[in-house]
Amino acid sequence: MPASSSGQALVRLLEVGIDGTDIEINRGEYGDAPLGQGFIVLGHEAVGQIEDPGTTRLSKGDLVVPLVRRPDGCVSCRSGKPDMCVEGNYRECGIRGAHGFLREYLVEGPDFLVPVPKELRNIAVLTEPTSIATKGIEQAMDSHNRSANPINTAVVLGAGPLGLLSTALLRLQDYSTYTLDIVPRSSPRAQLVGVIGATYLDGRESAVTALPQELGNVDLIVEATGNSTVAFQAISALGTNGVLCLMGVSTGEKPLEICADCLNMQMVLGNKMVFGTVSSNRGHFERSIESLVRIEEKWPGWLSSLITRRLRLDEFAEGLRPSPGSIKTVIELV
Ligand code: BGC
Ligand code: ZN
Repeated sequence: MPASSSGQALVRLLEVGIDGTDIEINRGEYGDAPLGQGFIVLGHEAVGQIEDPGTTRLSKGDLVVPLVRRPDGCVSCRSGKPDMCVEGNYRECGIRGAHGFLREYLVEGPDFLVPVPKELRNIAVLTEPTSIATKGIEQAMDSHNRSANPINTAVVLGAGPLGLLSTALLRLQDYSTYTLDIVPRSSPRAQLVGVIGATYLDGRESAVTALPQELGNVDLIVEATGNSTVAFQAISALGTNGVLCLMGVSTGEKPLEICADCLNMQMVLGNKMVFGTVSSNRGHFERSIESLVRIEEKWPGWLSSLITRRLRLDEFAEGLRPSPGSIKTVIELV
């Protein structure tokens, strides 16, 4: 039981989601333990319940999602945008320099706890990955605004949790959305793409670089596979005035031979824009919660069906083993 201190609330953690980052940290490929400690407690996708609000304005029983990134003193961090930290001395709970949420209790200040409506109890654990997609898509939209043509065609590369959540955010705004993966059309991932009115593309049939032949001018691409080769192929697939948002962290050192002249010329002559995005701030969490409410209203049950495995804490090691058929694994702490 962590000692509570003034101005902080005691949170009982309810559920923690596992993602690719956790698997990479567990393999020793990514992440850092807190200073002077030889281990890190995992877990950065979480939902909890206020057990004791202390002197905060939260109430006992409130559902909350903790923020992941903790600011350093840089100009971005001081302005409430630790996700855009420029000095790089931020910490990320469960990832870098700070313990995560795979524990029973957490003592935390209200600035790092985002309230969630009660009706989202079973899917609120998806808030953190949704906040990553929210930030990427918001920034992509802002960037696309520099041209006058509308976004007619959006493509999401990868139908993992991040790709599926990105697809849902794009479909909430009624964009024609195509989501590509390399699983059969009959698989749950491909089916879930169809349920929300997007079109599933089997990447084993249609190459990423050939997408323009099939779809015409591709205005927006969200890269959510984390495969760096796919990321470079996406630059070629991008249409005139198109924006490519890279969300996938690739931890290896894979080299790739590219036609640098071709890519450079395509980008210049096509007014193309490529940007990377990482982490998210409180605003992204808050807008994600609003989007989750709307997704749940529009396609009831769709979000719950992303959670394909619910394990107990003593089955945690199982959750860290990649399981191809499964979409999102959640550890239940109560
Ligand atoms: C997390 C982000 C984090 C990023 C890089 C992702 O898995 O969702 O919060 O910023 O990893 O560490
Ligand atoms: Zn900073």
